[in-house]
Amino acid sequence: MARYRGSVCRICRREGEKLYLKGERCYTDKCAIERRPYPPGEHGQGRNKLSEYGLQLREKQKIRRIYGIMEKQFRRYFRAAEKMTGVTGENFLQLLERRLDNVVFRLGFATSRNEARQFVLHGHILVNGRKVNIPSYQVDEGDIISVKDSSRKSKRFKEIFEFNSEVTPPKWLSVDFDKAEGKVLSLPDREDIDYSVKEHLIVEYYSR
Ligand code: SF4
Repeated sequence: MARYRGSVCRICRREGEKLYLKGERCYTDKCAIERRPYPPGEHGQGRNKLSEYGLQLREKQKIRRIYGIMEKQFRRYFRAAEKMTGVTGENFLQLLERRLDNVVFRLGFATSRNEARQFVLHGHILVNGRKVNIPSYQVDEGDIISVKDSSRKSKRFKEIFEFNSEVTPPKWLSVDFDKAEGKVLSLPDREDIDYSVKEHLIVEYYSR
C-alpha cells in the first residue's frame, strides 16, 4: 500500500500543530514546529484564511495523518461509523482509537503510531497471547495486548519502556511495563480523545 514517504515534520507544520509523529524528537527543542511554526513552502508565511471547505479538509487531513491512514481506508472507517448506532463523529473516532497500532502507542510500547505499526507488522505484538500482525485490527474490551517475550528484551523496547515509564495511559487502558502487557478495560469514549479534533467538520466533509 502506498504510504507518505516525505518529511513527517512537514505534516505538523502544514496542520499548524504538533501531531507527535516522530517519537522522542517531538518532546525536544529539535521539533520543527517549535523552530518554524508556519506552513512549509514558499508561501507558508503568507495569507492563510481558509474557506469552510478548506477548514473541513484540513481537519480531515489532520486526523488522517495523526493515525497514519490512507484516504481510502479512512473513508471506510467513516462509512462504518455512519452505520453504527450513536453519534457518527464519536463512532468514527472510537474506530480509529481501537486500531491495534494506536493501542500499542497509547500503552507506551512505542514512541509514535508509526513505530507501533512497524512493531505490529513485524510480529512483536500479541493479542491474548497470539501474534497479530494487522495494524488495523480492532481491539475489544478485555483484550490483553503484550510484547512478545523475545522482543521485550531487545535494546529498543528497553529504551522505549524507560522513556515512557512515567506515561499514564488513557483510562480505558491499563499497562504493566514489568510484564510488557496492557489491558483494554473498556471501549474509548469521546472524552478519551486527548488531542484537539472537531469531528463535526469531518462529518460535514464526507456528507457533502
Ligand atoms: Fe511534529 Fe514531532 Fe516533527 Fe515536532 S518533531 S514537527 S511534533 S513530527
